[in-house]
Amino acid sequence: MKIKTFEFNYFPVNTYLLYDETGEAILVDCGCVNDREIDTLDQFLTENKLTLKRLICTHLHLDHVFGNAFIKDKYGIEPEAHAADITALPSLEQQVKRFNIDLEKPSITVTKTLKEGDVVRFGNSELQVLHVPGHSPGSIVLYSAADAVAFVGDVLFHGGIGRTDLWGGSLDLLTEGILIKLFTLPNQTKIYSGHGPKTSIEFEKKHNPYLS
Ligand SMILES: [Zn+2]
Ligand SMILES: [Zn+2]
Repeated sequence: MKIKTFEFNYFPVNTYLLYDETGEAILVDCGCVNDREIDTLDQFLTENKLTLKRLICTHLHLDHVFGNAFIKDKYGIEPEAHAADITALPSLEQQVKRFNIDLEKPSITVTKTLKEGDVVRFGNSELQVLHVPGHSPGSIVLYSAADAVAFVGDVLFHGGIGRTDLWGGSLDLLTEGILIKLFTLPNQTKIYSGHGPKTSIEFEKKHNPYLS
């Protein structure tokens, strides 16, 4: 599996494009806020002859879903997320008010759901869905044992963990989920977070100040 990282929007958020030798690709969190950012993504797809198949949202916080409406318009692809975030989180229009941000495009409702134990497939690749609530009620992690990588959204960061003061957050659930579901993955597993640099399970077990 190949991984292309883009940084989009004001926060900024990591948008991951995953693809393999078949030319099929999926997006993990599309943070594009305008046509210029969508063009950057589209240019990479075209240059590498990739076909975008799915859009997976690690969770439904504003910075991770700005691009959902753009992707649906351009590629006809519906975003997928955990049902707990669809239920618990305010609409994107309501979320942006808290951060004084204007939207360029009206948001779309997420209707396709993913849950613990689901497998996301594209080309010859697959990722397991782990439900790790706490940063948001429906936060998910996508894990590939074959490639030893996990896309964790805002659950875990290099030297940090997700904030728990937003809608439906829980510090207890978050730390428990990381310890039970992530720190039991193989040490060499590379961690791709929603913001900032990548890290590994081994590094975070040794150095993460929030989890010792
Ligand atoms: Zn978040
Ligand atoms: Zn975020």
